[in-house]
Amino acid sequence: MTGTVTNWAGNITYTAKELHRPRTLDRLRALVAGSGRVRVLGSGHSFNAIAEPGEAGVLLSLDALPARVDVDTAARTVRVGGGVRYAELARRVHERGLALPNMASLPHISVAGSVATGTHGSGVGNGPLSSAVREVELVTADGSTVRIGREDEARFGGAVTSLGALGVVTALTLDLEPAFDVEQHLFTELPLDGLDSALFETVMSAAYSVSLFTDWRAPGFRQVWVKRRTDRPLPDFPWAAPATEKLHPVPGMPAVNCTEQFGVAGPWYERLPHFRAEFTPSSGAELQSEYLLPRRFAVDMLHAIDGIRETVAPVLQTCEVRTVAADGQWLSPSYGRDTVAAHFTWVADTPAVLPVVRRLEEALAPFDARPHWGKVFTAPAAGLRARYPRLGDFRALARSLDPEGTFSNAFVRDVLGD
Ligand SMILES: Cc1cc2nc3c(=O)[nH]c(=O)nc-3n(C[C@H](O)[C@H](O)[C@H](O)COP(=O)(O)OP(=O)(O)OC[C@H]3O[C@@H](n4cnc5c(N)ncnc54)[C@H](O)[C@@H]3O)c2cc1C
Repeated sequence: MTGTVTNWAGNITYTAKELHRPRTLDRLRALVAGSGRVRVLGSGHSFNAIAEPGEAGVLLSLDALPARVDVDTAARTVRVGGGVRYAELARRVHERGLALPNMASLPHISVAGSVATGTHGSGVGNGPLSSAVREVELVTADGSTVRIGREDEARFGGAVTSLGALGVVTALTLDLEPAFDVEQHLFTELPLDGLDSALFETVMSAAYSVSLFTDWRAPGFRQVWVKRRTDRPLPDFPWAAPATEKLHPVPGMPAVNCTEQFGVAGPWYERLPHFRAEFTPSSGAELQSEYLLPRRFAVDMLHAIDGIRETVAPVLQTCEVRTVAADGQWLSPSYGRDTVAAHFTWVADTPAVLPVVRRLEEALAPFDARPHWGKVFTAPAAGLRARYPRLGDFRALARSLDPEGTFSNAFVRDVLGD
């Protein structure tokens, strides 16, 4: 491989022997069929070695393939190419009067890479982004195409949130809905004191998507982001004070890159992400971790983090708490359970951050926490396997689609226990 290729955060340098950017599907098929080990690099926004093929392997980027976005307005679906990012997809879908149900905080991430890791936004009624997927098209190890749709009940549960282990995802078909507008209302200072389970549920259900932010320098939340669909009632929000200036989730950072606030209504794709699509950070001075727990543990989880905030705060830029509705992807961190997700944006200093991540995982151990597959975690895979009741089914699916392990890597072998 000429030159080094790193992830967006720069904390992972891929060691693959070759990086290829095929321009056609035929070239992609030939490359896959002729290579022993292959991993696909999406937009590189993961913070761990999940995409790493190893020194003997080939890294494939799909960003030179035609960026197909084929909207079927009558069926309310879109078929999207394997290298397309959410920002482009959202713009094209909105032009046709349609919408995706939800988005992550950043629109620059690829669709295939996001659904492969269980990426999510917020909302008690919103599953992870993979919930919108109805069909996956994969190029498997011999270069042939396999389609797995929702009606394929025996295989679909493993096909979307697949950690990239089944084949090259060359297209996905997603469900759409009519376009809608969203307003963002921001509030400040929601105390932890008095936040019991009932109030937590009420706060997080106040609108379509709600996020709580804190730097854990004191108990409680510095900011609450309430994203209301304008076709739904305007909630009362008496538990925190309305923000008096535009805010960035990281205290002190200018809000210029953030999506429009102060209740100005706008299209779904310009409000559901926290960050504007026009602002394209090519790299980021941060690391991230995230843990997804059954929602009934939300308040206990917050107190557990508060109990170690003097350890957490020195390396933390911001912590975001969101909700995710249960979904049916076997390897999804929100599989089978309504979820609370605690996300941590750390400083870009791996040696300083890792001991804190370990301490945090100890604090969250009683709550059956599943780490985000695309972020930094230290929990041993053996312990994680027990948290995924359908892991054995996923392993069997991977073996049937990819018997030689062409699309496996150290990360996947560890997770699957191979
Ligand atoms: C600033 C920032 C904000 C973020 N916000 C959120 C958020 O709001 N919510 C959240 O849940 N996560 C969030 N993340 C995490 C991010 O969504 C995930 O790491 C996601 O996987 C990134 O997608 P990617 O295309 O960059 O994936 P990559 O890191 O490139 O790849 C991830 C995995 O997908 C596989 N893959 C990618 N494309 C294909 C393909 N075509 N075929 C087969 N396998 C493929 C790769 O091999 C790898 O295993 C954020 C990350 C950053 C940097």
